[in-house]
Amino acid sequence: MEQIKQSLFSFNYSELKARIAVDGKRSFLADQIYDWVYRKFIFDPELWTNVGKDTRSYLAQHFTWELPQIIWNGLSQDGTRKFLLKFADSQTIESVAIPARNRLTLCVSSQVGCAMGCTFCHTATQGLKRHLKVEEVVGQYLAVTKWLKENVSEDSRLSNMVYMGQGEPLHNFNAMKTATEIFLEEKGLHLGQRKITLSTSGLAPQIEKLKDFPPVNIAISLHSPRDEVRSKLMPINKAYNLERLFAAIDSIPLKANRRITYEYLLIDGLNNTQEDLEELFKLIKPSESKINLIPFNEFPGSPFKRPSDQKVLAFQKAFMDRGYTCTIRMTKGEDILAACGQLKSEFEKINLWADESVASVQLTKQLSKLSHKHLEYNVAIQAAEDEDTQDEEDLVDDLVLEMDAATDLNL
Ligand code: SAH
Ligand code: SF4
Repeated sequence: MEQIKQSLFSFNYSELKARIAVDGKRSFLADQIYDWVYRKFIFDPELWTNVGKDTRSYLAQHFTWELPQIIWNGLSQDGTRKFLLKFADSQTIESVAIPARNRLTLCVSSQVGCAMGCTFCHTATQGLKRHLKVEEVVGQYLAVTKWLKENVSEDSRLSNMVYMGQGEPLHNFNAMKTATEIFLEEKGLHLGQRKITLSTSGLAPQIEKLKDFPPVNIAISLHSPRDEVRSKLMPINKAYNLERLFAAIDSIPLKANRRITYEYLLIDGLNNTQEDLEELFKLIKPSESKINLIPFNEFPGSPFKRPSDQKVLAFQKAFMDRGYTCTIRMTKGEDILAACGQLKSEFEKINLWADESVASVQLTKQLSKLSHKHLEYNVAIQAAEDEDTQDEEDLVDDLVLEMDAATDLNL
């Protein structure tokens, strides 16, 4: 009976060593594989010049090295590039590459669709088709890197990752854990822990298991400080309410000076009132948190509206006046439906509201202009108050990203 072949991209380094040891191969081969795949980005063993013929035929007999296929890509006006990737079973997902001054962030998907059913999210309308395998998560990074090297520049390198594409990463805990170990592996890509951010809708039991997960940045999608409203936005809140969620967050082992990011979607009239602010001040401690406001990205068929720029800025100012670090996530890739919550696997949905997108790009421009002063203020406060230089660097990076957006637009 023919043995089922495993993907070379499905093993962290120690698993790979153990796997080849079964066939009597020495760990040096694992080093060579990691070097060719994750340092040189050459995936076919036939091209590995320092690996002998016997070893190459051994690899061909036991392993595969197929990457997801990029079947479409689109460039947004702001430089964001969305990729539509197809797997062996023809399921498709999206990955988005987001450029900023000195970094290129890849937003990866963890599932085809998502089971969480958040009422503001385009991905949710698909339901959960299936979880992604380790090699499909790692494959997004490798396939996009290969594309960038072939089509943009040989020096292209994805420097940061956010698990904010389609799907709930903690609902696919084990695969995301191994993929993260692969991204961090010293002998391979060697991304820093701070270069990776995992965003979760609040699966409390899995948040408690984060002590078994590499210590990457954690972002929690909060979106309301009230159970009634949060449950309407995010059905997961009915299973794990705010009290349960915050008990789980307290168990996250935070390294010195690191903070949890709270993502807060702003939907007009629903979660952006003065009362919401008061409740949020009670829930979140400024010293241990960063707040990232996300003005709602509208999509066809959604009943929710994005608040005015003035309201978004007033919300940010209220946090900053209370001593919180609070940034506004500039919408990226909106004109190609690549912004947060707009990802969906259906090819034909891309660009389906091209006309409206012009209006929303205008809105984003205005927001950049208005927020410019607040961002400067933010940097100044941060420089004065934040003791942790690395953290400060990250924050300033975020702000620079946002200011860049304003400058790009000639404001
Ligand atoms: N499933 C994870 C990560 C992917 S979504 C999570 O929910 O956290 C990444 C972020 O985009 C989350 O904060 C999510 O709440 C937000 N988001 C979803 N739909 C959105 C929309 N239409 N507009 C703005 N942000 C949205
Ligand atoms: Fe899933 Fe996140 Fe969308 Fe909610 S917001 S449906 S958890 S992808």
